[in-house]
Amino acid sequence: MRHFRLWLACVTLAAAVAPLRAQERVGVVASFSILGDFVVNVGGDRVSVTTLVGPDGDVHVYTPAPADARKVADAKLLIVNGLGLEGWLPRLLQSSGSKAPIIIATKGIAPLAAGSDTDPHAWQSVADAKIYVANISDALAAADPAGAEVFRENAKAYSAKLDGLDREVREAVAKIPPDRRKVISTHGAFGYFASAYGIQFIAPLGVSTESEASARAIAGIITQIRKEKIPAVFLENISDPRLIRRIAAETGARVGGTLYSDSLTGEKGDAPTYIELVRHNIKALTSALAD
Ligand code: ZN
Repeated sequence: MRHFRLWLACVTLAAAVAPLRAQERVGVVASFSILGDFVVNVGGDRVSVTTLVGPDGDVHVYTPAPADARKVADAKLLIVNGLGLEGWLPRLLQSSGSKAPIIIATKGIAPLAAGSDTDPHAWQSVADAKIYVANISDALAAADPAGAEVFRENAKAYSAKLDGLDREVREAVAKIPPDRRKVISTHGAFGYFASAYGIQFIAPLGVSTESEASARAIAGIITQIRKEKIPAVFLENISDPRLIRRIAAETGARVGGTLYSDSLTGEKGDAPTYIELVRHNIKALTSALAD
């Protein structure tokens, strides 16, 4: 009897730790790379994650390919940002015929307004990223109840890392003199970062990259840089660098490097994960502003 119990315990343990075979994993489609990274961290090897807008891609102006409709049709779960980020999604859903549940990862986050628009870039606040993670954990548990405990544990461990990251950002910003906490970025992607950490961002483009910067917006920014002595301007991995280079040339402001706003980089880039993305951004900001 004792041996049998021991044997049973071993079998149960083996079943609990054995990785799932590919066909047993929950197929999740995430709309863009940052969201995909959150799903990988929470889902571990119980999920197989596909992202639609890949590294260095611009999720605002994405045009889905026919292969995307197939990915969505095959998914058991679809995880999106919401807050107006994925304007191309309804058509893609329709053409895919998918009946998979759609999870809005920003549920419960207080949205920021930018003029008459809603700012969708909530992931730029690390505290808000933890809400994404909690929503993803709940969604995966509903899709794969046998994995609920694993998802909860993974989410807890990853959220603890995010708490550490949040502290890193605050410590880094604290080293920047208050009157230098002002930068120019290409589009309005850093509203949540600004609101959480107290760096002011000014951008010639609004919260989407869909329309071009107006001559008036560019002229306004050039005046503001000169008047307020804004120390640095930043490029973005998803946007054409020419606009920011022109603003830098006209004002003499320093190009402080590249900020990663809406997308991870590939494996070999500076920001292949969300945590590395935030670390890269604070390093770029502090080295340009902390003089
Ligand atoms: Zn954006």
